[in-house]
Order: sequence, then structure tokens, then C-alpha cells
Amino acid sequence: MKITSYCARCLKGTRFDAASSPGAVVCRRCGERRDVTISPLMRDGKVDVCALCECGHLYVEKDFSAWLGLAVILGAVAGFLWAQAFDIVLAFGFLGAAALLDGVMYRLCPLRAICYRCLATYQGARPSAEHKPYDLGVAARFASDFEERRRR
Ligand SMILES: [Zn+2]
Ligand SMILES: [Zn+2]
Repeated sequence: MKITSYCARCLKGTRFDAASSPGAVVCRRCGERRDVTISPLMRDGKVDVCALCECGHLYVEKDFSAWLGLAVILGAVAGFLWAQAFDIVLAFGFLGAAALLDGVMYRLCPLRAICYRCLATYQGARPSAEHKPYDLGVAARFASDFEERRRR
């Protein structure tokens, strides 16, 4: 499982492997140090609490590369423009194939878990029934927590 921690001070991402369980991550840009606590469940590939802020609220989303999706669409448009001059059926075939490919890539794409509180990302974690897709209500609660902490 790969964990990406976002620095609390400068937001720079630092990626590390949960298996190597470092005691802390040190930001390469500003030197801010954050303690890492790998729970026993996490060693097993499951995220129960965030390793960085010990928050138990995480959401899951598809680990989908938007750039890859865009590349497929652009390729399809180029194919369409090229083929429409001589074969309109083939031209539409390009668009259909792209939609299909996009759908397949999305379906096959693994999930990643993300901490609501500190946005740490867990790639390659085993799916957990407790983790739901992004919920704006939960996120808003953490956002107001963050504002409060910053004001103090
Ligand atoms: Zn930093
Ligand atoms: Zn966290």
C-alpha cells in the first residue's frame, strides 16, 4: 500500500510505502515532520484510521487518471476527423471505441482511500465496507474544524 501524505504547512505531497512503515515523514520542501502510525490492520492492507492524523473518516474514489481519459478522447476526436472524410461509419466507430475504452478503464481502475481530515491518500488498500464515496456533508464538517484550528 502506498501512502501519500500532504504537508500540513506547504501542502507538498510525500509518497511512501506502508510496508516500510517509517516512524515519520519529513517534508522535502519545508522540513515539516509528521508522525506515521501504521495500525495492525493497515499492515494487513486495510485502512481503518489515517496513519497521519488518526482520523477514522475516509472516503474512496477511483484512482483514475484524468489525463489518460483525456488522451483517449483526444485520440478519438483525431480519428473521427481523419476518417469522416472517407468513411463516416468508421469515424463514429472511433468515438464509440473511445467511450468503450473509457468505460473499461474506469471499471478496471483500482480504488484509493482518502482521509477527510488531512487528505492523505492510500493507494492499493483493500476495500473496506466502512469507506463510502465522497460525502460533502462529512467534508464540510472537517473543513469547519480546519478553519477553527487555524483561527486559534
Ligand atoms: Zn512542507
Ligand atoms: Zn488523515
